[in-house]
Amino acid sequence: MVLLALGVGSGDEVITTSNTFFATAEAIWFVGATPVFVDINPQTRNIDPNLIEAAISPKTKAIIPVHLYGQPAEMRKISAIAKKHKLFVIEDCAQALGARGGDFALGELSDAVCTSFIIQKNLGCFGDGGAVVTNNAAMASEIAKLRNHGSPKRSHHTMGYNSRLDEIHAATLSVKLRQLDRWNDRRIEIAKQYDAALAGTSLELPYTLPGYRSVNHLYVVETEARDALQSHLEAQGIKALTHYPIAIHQQEGFPFGRPARIAGSLQHTERSAARVLSLPMYPELTDEEAKQVIEAIVAWDKTQAAKTQKVAG
Ligand SMILES: *Cc1c(COP(=O)(O)O)cnc(C)c1O
Repeated sequence: MVLLALGVGSGDEVITTSNTFFATAEAIWFVGATPVFVDINPQTRNIDPNLIEAAISPKTKAIIPVHLYGQPAEMRKISAIAKKHKLFVIEDCAQALGARGGDFALGELSDAVCTSFIIQKNLGCFGDGGAVVTNNAAMASEIAKLRNHGSPKRSHHTMGYNSRLDEIHAATLSVKLRQLDRWNDRRIEIAKQYDAALAGTSLELPYTLPGYRSVNHLYVVETEARDALQSHLEAQGIKALTHYPIAIHQQEGFPFGRPARIAGSLQHTERSAARVLSLPMYPELTDEEAKQVIEAIVAWDKTQAAKTQKVAG
């Protein structure tokens, strides 16, 4: 709806990342525009701002950075590029409500922030929901129409969608919103426990940029032996999922009969997709449970190290 409100559509290009939930690119295709995929920075796993300028063409209209796993993308750099080339910036904040950059707030350096309240996000409603936040009054009123069958006022219609936030969800969110910072703080506390206890293992741990507040929607480690570690944890009764094992450009059927452009190599995106594993992460996780996860990983890592030594010997 933000893309529609900004008039982005057929023949336009929108720069984003392939290392994200499918919905980010789906929105671009949905309005008839062309997603242009730029590689990630392998440390932050967010779009690499240093690769964006080379991906810009005369058709480029917008950039959609994703604040993946709860860590803001490098918005200062992204917004400077957007200003220089007169592009819109739309933040995909579905995983990062409550996060901050080193010296910027989410929403401060963009045209709009889109978020999701589906139950598993850091702030979930009673089922499905989402929101757009903007300080652009024209866009706000356009979206208010679009979400309600194109209705600017009762009994009058242009064209739009059924995309309202039901009141039961809004009421749930109003109550839960008060707890968001506390829940995010707990996620950060769990992340610190993982960081400290897993630092000596062979796993690559999440990297948070200096001064950034990542709200750890997910705690995603990387290892060559991802599948083996996942099975090992599963056998111990620990569910570890993968986000996202198939990048968007790797989906079967990509690009679904629609336009798409890959800007340069997506080698870091592909490498990450093959290696990611999300450890249990939610505010209700107890210290005892986090310890069980840690112990299971450390034990597995020791057997791995022994195997490697044998091979080397
Ligand atoms: C969850 C999510 C979305 C979409 O959320 P819906 O509520 O299913 O529309 C978009 N982008 C990212 C990065 C997400 O994690």
